[in-house]
Amino acid sequence: MWSGRLKIARYIPQSTTYWRGKIAFVLFASGCNMRCPFCYSSDVIKKTNTIQKTEFEKALNRVQWAIDCIVITGGEPTIYSDLPIFCKKMKLKRLNVYLETNGSNPSMLKKMLDMKVVDYIAMDVKAPLDKKRYMEITRSDISIENILKSIDILMHSNIDYEFRTTYTPELSEDEMLTISNQLSGARRWVIQQFRPENCLDESFMHYQKTPYEDIMRVASQAQGPQEIIIRTEEKGEEKIK
Ligand code: SF4
Repeated sequence: MWSGRLKIARYIPQSTTYWRGKIAFVLFASGCNMRCPFCYSSDVIKKTNTIQKTEFEKALNRVQWAIDCIVITGGEPTIYSDLPIFCKKMKLKRLNVYLETNGSNPSMLKKMLDMKVVDYIAMDVKAPLDKKRYMEITRSDISIENILKSIDILMHSNIDYEFRTTYTPELSEDEMLTISNQLSGARRWVIQQFRPENCLDESFMHYQKTPYEDIMRVASQAQGPQEIIIRTEEKGEEKIK
């Protein structure tokens, strides 16, 4: 059984914006092991008052007849050791499971794939894949080896997945193209527009959102991934390649 260690900051009972073509219950895991200044979930990663297991279960039961899947996002869900068991419980409820992660816990990703308790993984690739730059962009002392392992696990899996990068004001066009080359052969790469909304670091509220033209310029030059998608406020989701 799920032990209830997974802390839930908040939830959305029904949403169609997370997983194309699916109606999802969206759960925001509380807390994160990174401190990206552009993070728009600052309320979630700082939250200490979390929702009780019984409240979550009641909310899910109320809408279960109307949803296809559960989206588990955050914060960073893989910081909770009982996440795989929680996902297994969702699968037993015949819900598909969509996981958003920062890729810092490859052993848990491998375990979840082996247990077949997840159906889609969206992993952030936050910077070019070298330790110094990754630490600068995420403001965190992360293991770049773990990020590389997670990328490798997904690229050699049969699961449907995407890598995605927020084009923050601190990343250059060259760096975005470096990331696309480092994801050579990946099934899908999504470039997300930075927007100055609810940022963890308030100084990021003074930046402008990433111009649509800048995102298009990167997407049209990028070669590595098999499929390239952009997400912008102006035009929603567009497949570029
Ligand atoms: S954007 Fe960064 S800080 Fe925010 S939840 Fe994701 S990994 Fe954590």
